[in-house]
Amino acid sequence: MEFETVIGLEIHAQMKTKSKIFCGCSTEFGAPPNTQTCPICLAMPGTLPVLNRKVVESAIKLGLATESTLNRDNRFARKNYFYPDISKGYQISQFELPICEHGRVEIEVEGQSPKTIGITRIHMEEDAGKLVHDDREPVSYVDLNRAGTPLLEIVSEPDLRSPEEAVAYLKKLHAIVRYLDICDGNMQEGSFRCDANISLRPRDQKEYGVRIELKNMNSFRNVQMALEYEERRQRDILLESGQVVQQTRLWDADRCRSESMRDKEDAHDYRYFPEPDLIPVVLDEDWIERMRAELPELPDKRRRRFASQFGLTDYDAAILTASRELADFFETSLRDFANAKKLANFIGTELLRDYGPERIGECPVKPGQLARLLTMTEEGAISGKIAKTVFGEMLACGADPEAIVKAKGLVQMSDEGQLIALVREILAANPDQVQQFREGKAKVMGFFVGQLMQKTKGQANPQLANKLFQQELGL
Ligand code: ADP
Ligand code: MG
Ligand code: ZN
Repeated sequence: MEFETVIGLEIHAQMKTKSKIFCGCSTEFGAPPNTQTCPICLAMPGTLPVLNRKVVESAIKLGLATESTLNRDNRFARKNYFYPDISKGYQISQFELPICEHGRVEIEVEGQSPKTIGITRIHMEEDAGKLVHDDREPVSYVDLNRAGTPLLEIVSEPDLRSPEEAVAYLKKLHAIVRYLDICDGNMQEGSFRCDANISLRPRDQKEYGVRIELKNMNSFRNVQMALEYEERRQRDILLESGQVVQQTRLWDADRCRSESMRDKEDAHDYRYFPEPDLIPVVLDEDWIERMRAELPELPDKRRRRFASQFGLTDYDAAILTASRELADFFETSLRDFANAKKLANFIGTELLRDYGPERIGECPVKPGQLARLLTMTEEGAISGKIAKTVFGEMLACGADPEAIVKAKGLVQMSDEGQLIALVREILAANPDQVQQFREGKAKVMGFFVGQLMQKTKGQANPQLANKLFQQELGL
């Protein structure tokens, strides 16, 4: 039997605000436990929340970027549940009237045509604290630094049909929130995380199958592996004509498998009701337009522009626009080195090997320096091969390309006088090869040029080398 996979993601993106959503405490990651708390986020009786304007503005921007409907009048709601990491006994979230609904994003999977994925809703909420378990002691601790940190929850429609599509969707949203500069996107620290819902159904069946919710995946790779694992596990169950039980499962990255955390009833009873401590959030047109004016060029648009303006393949353009920093790096380099294709190739193979799109800011090589290095190859001062070596040095020490080329004596040998003696030496030392060449074995030329490269440590200008050998062989 053939099955179709159905996936929907719930993404939690932590907003990059200085203070928490309902109080003035810092959101900085990594402070000693419980040092970033106050009576409000500690849930002392009698305290009242005050909404952080920046959170609403971030939500408006994300709503505009995902072509969502912005609810001009939206509300906060109490989601009631008891757990030690949430001292109030409820989480302030949004329910019936979230700030954004009915959005969409486009995804690309290699070898498939672009596809639109629906976004059911985006809502604002506060994060919970963190429980810290110590295996050596029979106790758990609670750290409330994270309690009250602002989140946007982005819920997708069950429109994704494979783990690849799910990861492409996740990466696209990751790029969007980073372009908007509303979330730092750090998956290791949990500032950008997702739960994945996945089910299988027979190809010809209309209703969705029973779903499993997967948690605890803190990298794109883990999301991919967890979904592939779950796809196989559910297929095996269905083929044995068993029933998939609705569950929440945790991904164990060390063991590469998921484990059941709890069986999940269809709907939790969170006893949602309107949050009486906060007034409705009213968005006026003026505010929305001001936010629209602040939007940067978004990844899809920039990708299409890169492809048409610089004559790049869609694939190259997608890689170069994966982060705003990388796209900026590329465009800045282009100011001093106009060969876009060559620049794209060099960045794709040499730069991205060491610095991924998210880490370009840490790269010691600046766009102008890369442009000058590549200009040296265009002008024939160094060979393409030497350029890679020089670039490696630049990455290691941040020095200018000219300085490295000079210090290491890597300038290309383009002087006939210098090379001709070596060419003659090589021909004299290899009479057999010369004989073969004269008998018509043109390939021997490669051997001669190779010998010359060896003698000059790769610095001989290859075109000139060819010319000199031909000349000496009397051609
Ligand atoms: P809950 O709040 O209980 O997690 P939701 O109805 O909000 O449930 O759905 C959460 C996510 O699960 C959404 O992204 C949705 O697209 C996805 N989803 C719902 N039903 C299925 C299904 N049968 N298979 C896969 N994903 C599903
Ligand atoms: Mg859920
Ligand atoms: Zn506080």
